[in-house]
Amino acid sequence: MTATMEQIVDWNAEQGAHALELDAVEAGLGTGPTGLSDAEARTRLADYGPNALEEIPPPSTFAIMIRQLKSPLIYILLIATGVTLLLGEFVDAAVIGAVLLINTVLGTVQERKAELSVRALMDLVAPRARVLRADREQDVDSVELVPGDVVLLESGVRVPADIRLATTTGLRIDESLLTGESTASAKNATVLNPDVVLADRTNMAYAGSVVVSGRGRGYVVDTGARTELGTIAERIRDEPAQATPLEQRLARFSKVVAIVVLVAAGLAFAFGLARGQSAADMFLVSVSLAVGAVPEGLPVVFTVALAVGVRRMAKRSAIIRELAAVETVGSATVIGSDKTGTLTQNRMTVERIWADGNALDLDRAEPGSDAAGMLDGHPALHPLLLTGVLANEANLHSTESEPAATGDPTDVALLVAAERLGINVDQARRSHEPVAELPFESERQYAASVRRQGGRNVLYVKGAPERVLAMSATQLTAHGVEPLDAEGAATAARELAAGGLRVLAMAYRETAELPSDGTVPEPSGLTFLGLQGMLDPPRPGVQEAIDGCRNAGIRVLMITGDHALTARAIATRLGIAAADSRVVTGAELATIDDSELELIVRDVSVYARVTPDDKLRIVHAAQRNGEVVAVTGDGVNDAPALKAADIGIAMGQAGTDVAREAADMVLADDNFASIYAAVEEGRVTFDNLRKATFFLLSTAIALVLAILAGLGLGWPLIFLPAQVLWLNLVTNGVQDVALAFEPAEPGVADRPPRDPKEGILSRTLWQRGIATGAVMAAGTLAIFAAALAMTDSLPQAQTAAVTTMVIFQAFHAGNARAERTSVFRIDPRTNRFLLIAVAAAVALQVAAIYLPATQFVMRFEPFPTQLWLPIVAFASTVVVVNEVHKWLIRGRQDAPLPGPAGD
Ligand code: ADP
Ligand code: MG
Repeated sequence: MTATMEQIVDWNAEQGAHALELDAVEAGLGTGPTGLSDAEARTRLADYGPNALEEIPPPSTFAIMIRQLKSPLIYILLIATGVTLLLGEFVDAAVIGAVLLINTVLGTVQERKAELSVRALMDLVAPRARVLRADREQDVDSVELVPGDVVLLESGVRVPADIRLATTTGLRIDESLLTGESTASAKNATVLNPDVVLADRTNMAYAGSVVVSGRGRGYVVDTGARTELGTIAERIRDEPAQATPLEQRLARFSKVVAIVVLVAAGLAFAFGLARGQSAADMFLVSVSLAVGAVPEGLPVVFTVALAVGVRRMAKRSAIIRELAAVETVGSATVIGSDKTGTLTQNRMTVERIWADGNALDLDRAEPGSDAAGMLDGHPALHPLLLTGVLANEANLHSTESEPAATGDPTDVALLVAAERLGINVDQARRSHEPVAELPFESERQYAASVRRQGGRNVLYVKGAPERVLAMSATQLTAHGVEPLDAEGAATAARELAAGGLRVLAMAYRETAELPSDGTVPEPSGLTFLGLQGMLDPPRPGVQEAIDGCRNAGIRVLMITGDHALTARAIATRLGIAAADSRVVTGAELATIDDSELELIVRDVSVYARVTPDDKLRIVHAAQRNGEVVAVTGDGVNDAPALKAADIGIAMGQAGTDVAREAADMVLADDNFASIYAAVEEGRVTFDNLRKATFFLLSTAIALVLAILAGLGLGWPLIFLPAQVLWLNLVTNGVQDVALAFEPAEPGVADRPPRDPKEGILSRTLWQRGIATGAVMAAGTLAIFAAALAMTDSLPQAQTAAVTTMVIFQAFHAGNARAERTSVFRIDPRTNRFLLIAVAAAVALQVAAIYLPATQFVMRFEPFPTQLWLPIVAFASTVVVVNEVHKWLIRGRQDAPLPGPAGD
């Protein structure tokens, strides 16, 4: 292992590894079948650099800034600036311009922060690769791969580097990303001619391609930008970014607001002119109106609230891959979950064995002494256990101090069981030399291995009982080989499954010749050996999460490849379904058409022996029923269902790369309970968006009503455009962003999911917003009139009016914290940020009144101090209005709750 990096690079450039014998490849890369040592891998990483393509840079600050400006709301402000300029109101124009700038900068900063935090989260689910180093299998971050590493490939893996294959079993790889060829190509390790083109190099696995089925291992020849993918990365970099549903909804909302504002401003203008006001005055009124009605702060609040949601979900092990998915997660009405590994621990132990018509309890078998006796007493037991060991991809590498295993937990359980009953796994594997392997794939439901044994080939098969029994003709009993009693065996399998055990059947047969291509022949005429049933306990916390889902009005479906009875037993234990409930199997689904499936999906919760296609159909059927569907998946073929679902959820640990890439959300701990946590956080996020929107909307309504009423009454202008902006952006702005940080309202997880068709604001909140706006407008008008009468100074009256609005907002921020709960029942300390924001808004207003600079810009003039008392008194009425409305809602929607406002 003395090859320097320069040598490796030169060697690589000179001759393609596809044209070399394996020993030449090993020599060139300075490596061998047991892999590099950890130290060597580290040195090479330092020399050769990380295995990463040049990172796609985040959008530039400038690009984000431009995006802020592309909003109908901003267009209105731009028009307003233009109009004020034309009218010669330079100070106002400058203020609007400045506010535009501040808004853009603020938006840019927030969005950038959100973008960066989402990216940081992405690192948590960075791709990993399985390697052999110093003869030990381990998982490493893909970026740490170096030339010479031995990489293990299996279905669902995205190939992490360019690899010269050394061994393959049924390996097929989809290389469409590189070659455009969409059918997967079969791979082997045979040496090729040097001039074979990339697409035909069957002994190479290229970075970026996807393992569709089978297994393989090989040597990394190139990493990072030196891979074939690296050389074309430029070309495939630009994926068009799609607008998310939330963005679309926000865009629609902005457009509607913009149109309403323009029409209203135009009407007000015409109305004023008709009443004999000057065009210049009326322009100012219209501009104020437009500026007041536009909720400028909205886009920023949305970004912040979603980013807060993403962070909170990440803390609870749910990693969101798309900002807007935060909100969708909160509206889920159905969660379709895998069983193994998500609801259960995927820690299998063989509990019961069925052989020769006898059931053996494994916990009663003492390891050691008894075991030999057990093997003697049951002639089928030894070959049964042996099959479990030979048609098996897992490895035990227990040391003196600790037992350790790698591989599929189902396989590991079989090895452990065999060892317990006295079979030495290593020895058994050595004395039965492997000839050909058929690795387990979910779609196939069995695994097979051909072994050389005393000059004969023996085919060992293990898999789902239905599959294995269908391939068997005889069975091994105490009296030797007899015709198969398929019914008896199937009954035994059902009994094990009904106890919640995962059941595998074992069978074998001597086979004469192998097909010349070295593949495993389709098994048939096997001799059935027996069954092994393994226990996979539920994950802790899942039961509670399922109860939680029920309270939250969310249905949980179990969608599994396992046996119907196993599925039902576990579903019953977890409270997903009743003990006698219907289970629909993949075989049944095949006979059911889509419209019938829609009906079934309404009340059947357990789906067993399903294929990924079935899963996709279930998702579609539920969606046609109007459900918002979250679905989990981990295999290669789950990608379509994950994409089709409203929320695709992949496993961070057990899932394949392909599933993770197709998902909207990745569970760092693979635990169903984290889905439930994410739903809760999603609801909180949506609530907070709603609170901020409600808060902004109430103020906008108040401003518009006040301005229109003043106009109708023939009063002078109540607010100048610059003052309206000040209200909207500065004082409102700090408070609405603080609302994005609200903690969960009590009971957020105990109410039914939101109607997906409902807009950002519910009808109730629209009503409340209008009532609130009316009260704010009335109070402001009253103070304005009083101040004008008292001082006979328009600037002082305007200043008093603006101040009234600010104090109104300060009170109203508290109202907005809860949709139903009284503000007096919420601990103010649970959102300190809001407390600070409210204090800051009031302080800013007071400062603006008394500081010369703001006096000049905002045209503020201090009003008589005795007005403060009525201002605060008037403004506090907004709390009464909101409390009464909340009380009415509570009374209408549920059981009597104690007390009216302030209870
Ligand atoms: P799930 O992940 O939903 O439990 P799988 O597709 O993994 O379902 O398994 C389906 C069936 O295939 C199991 O019930 C079992 O009989 C069989 N099976 C599972 N794992 C293996 C394996 N490693 N080797 C052979 N058969 C297996
Ligand atoms: Mg599985």
